[in-house]
Parts: sequence; structure tokens; C-alpha cells
Amino acid sequence: MFKAILLNKTDTGTSAHIESLDEAALPEGDVTVEVDYSTLNYKDGLAITGAGPVVRQFPMVPGVDFAGRVRKSASPRFKAGDAVVLNGWGVGELHWGGLAELARVRSEWLMPLPAGMNAAQAMAIGTAGYTAMLCVQTLERHGVRPGDGEIIVTGANGGVGSIAIMILAQRGYQVVASTGRPAERERLLSLGAHEVIDRATLSGPGKPLAKERWAGAVDSVGSHTLANVCASARRGGVVTACGLAQGMDFPATVAPFILRGVTLAGVDSVYEPMDTRLSAWDALAEPALLARLAGNTREIGLTEAIDVARGLLAGQIAGRVRVDVR
Ligand code: NDP
Repeated sequence: MFKAILLNKTDTGTSAHIESLDEAALPEGDVTVEVDYSTLNYKDGLAITGAGPVVRQFPMVPGVDFAGRVRKSASPRFKAGDAVVLNGWGVGELHWGGLAELARVRSEWLMPLPAGMNAAQAMAIGTAGYTAMLCVQTLERHGVRPGDGEIIVTGANGGVGSIAIMILAQRGYQVVASTGRPAERERLLSLGAHEVIDRATLSGPGKPLAKERWAGAVDSVGSHTLANVCASARRGGVVTACGLAQGMDFPATVAPFILRGVTLAGVDSVYEPMDTRLSAWDALAEPALLARLAGNTREIGLTEAIDVARGLLAGQIAGRVRVDVR
């Protein structure tokens, strides 16, 4: 038997309870993993509360990422005792996920834990931190370099935003953090932001073009914020879009793209190919970055995860939430 958060569909939405399940109930897969840590990402918040249509079949164990040790493997790529990490591939949405003591998954979804990183650090990063790294690597692939000018990070206190600030600052970029929580200003500066701005300056309807400011952007918010970030990007600037915390809409014009050559680059972490994943996770195993994760991470147990998921969606959590499921 193993403990897991189990989501069921009800007449009024989604129910979430901790349940004791039989190992035989695990879904198909060639590797069974003893999960040490999972996390709470925005998507897990949507799944657990039922606030968004994330879960596509019930009953579901949520948790889009986990780190742990292989218990049983029918794959030549992994053997019992191997330290592994997983994020994406529909785990926690279509296939039972990491908010459980055991997970059974397909070996092609699993990665060895990067050298120099332990399971707790991997889940202080989690899907949010991995996505932040994909955004930074996308900016750099499009030619953005430290010294080019300011990089704005929206949703700065969130999982994606906070780790994007840390990665960018570590690499020498000048980071401007956009937040709705001015009380967290000092924390954002300590993560590496050089300036903190009020998200209200970006979250309402704006003009097709505004004063040029950003050489690059990591946007996890969408909606008017993304439109305004594009409108205030510098000539040739690059905006990465990965989230929708404000909304899925994009009320923009083509002006920044056709008059300033701005690039809007989408980032999807869920189905990235394995080589891109490995490269992002290796880049995250940077000792200076790992050393700073503790200050950005709150740890909870499985029993607290359902309540904390509600707080996450209500914008009450700063940084990352790691779940110790053991
Ligand atoms: P968090 O909940 O940790 O952070 C979201 C942050 O967005 C909040 O902390 C808040 O920052 C800001 N925010 C919340 N509500 C609003 C609002 N109404 N208007 C403007 N800003 C708001 O979530 P994550 O960092 O885990 O994820 C962020 C987004 O990225 C989500 O939409 C998520 O689904 C998406 N995502 C996408 C991935 C992909 O593969 N494309 C992978 C991972 C995440 P503050 O208080 O500082 O303003």
C-alpha cells in the first residue's frame, strides 16, 4: 500500500483526499519509483482545486514532477536504486503523478538525476525552475546577452518568476522584477533583481507601442501584461511566453513585431524532447544556483499539500513549494 493524493470528479467539481492505495492500482509503465519529493506548481494548484481543466481522466494522482529512487525497472536504462527526476509528459494530468509515495511511469520520460544535484534540490527547482531555464536558454538562443539591456520577469514571486530572476542574475543580466506584492520587494532584490516594479503598470489595456525598454522578457502571466511587455520591448528584443497567471488571452497588436522586429517565443515544458530537457537540467545543476535555492523554497508534507495548493492559486505563496512525500 502507498499514500497518495487522489482526485475524483464530483457533481460540483473535483474532490481531493489523501488515500492509501494498493501498488497494483498504479498505471502501466516499465519503471516504478519511490518518490522522495514532488512540488506544487501552478498546474498542480489547478488540478487539486479543480479550478482549471488540467486533469483529463479521473481518478488522478496529481503532481507534474517528482524526484526519487527506482524500486523496480524493466528497462535497461534504469536499475533499482538509481536516482531519477521527471517532469511533464502529461504526468499528473493524464497519467498518475508525483504527489504519492510511489509512481509508475514510462522509462522514456525519466531522467537520471543530474550530477551534483540531490532530490531535494531537484524539487526546489521542479517544473517551474526547469521552465525558467528553458525561457533563459530561449532568450540566449535568440541572441540576447548580458549587457544588452534590462530583462523583465513578470510573475516575479511565482515559481517560474523567482527562479528566472536567480538564473538571469547569476548569468550577469540586469533583471527587473514585476510583482503585485510590493511587500516582497527585499526578497526579490535578494534573489538578484536590480529593480522591482508594480505589476499594475503592465496589467491593464495599453498602447500598441510604448517607450522601448526591455532587451528580453520572461513572462509567466500572459494577457495584457504580455501585450504590454511586447509593446515596450526594445528593437530586436525577445519576449518568452510560458504562462497565463493573469489570463490566457493576448490582447495585443502586431506593431512590436513588424515595426521593432520583436520576437515572441513560446515555451512549452511538457513535451520538450529529451535532449532539450537534459541540457536544461544540466544547466540547473550549477553549484551557485543550487546553493541559493533554500531561501526560495518552503517544504511541506503530503497532508498539507491540498490546503497549500489553494493558497498558491490565491497568490499567497512566494517562491517554490517542495512536497516531502515520504
Ligand atoms: P505561481 O503561482 O508560483 O506564480 C504565478 C505568479 O504570477 C504569482 O506568484 C504572481 O506573482 C503572478 N500572478 C498571479 N496572478 C496574477 C494576475 N492575476 N495578474 C498578474 N500576475 C499574477 O505559478 P508558477 O510560477 O508555477 O507558474 C506560472 C505560470 O506559468 C502559470 O500560468 C503556469 O501554468 C505556467 N507554466 C507553464 C509552463 C509551460 O510549460 N509553458 C510550465 C510551468 C508553468 P506576483 O505576486 O509577484 O505578482
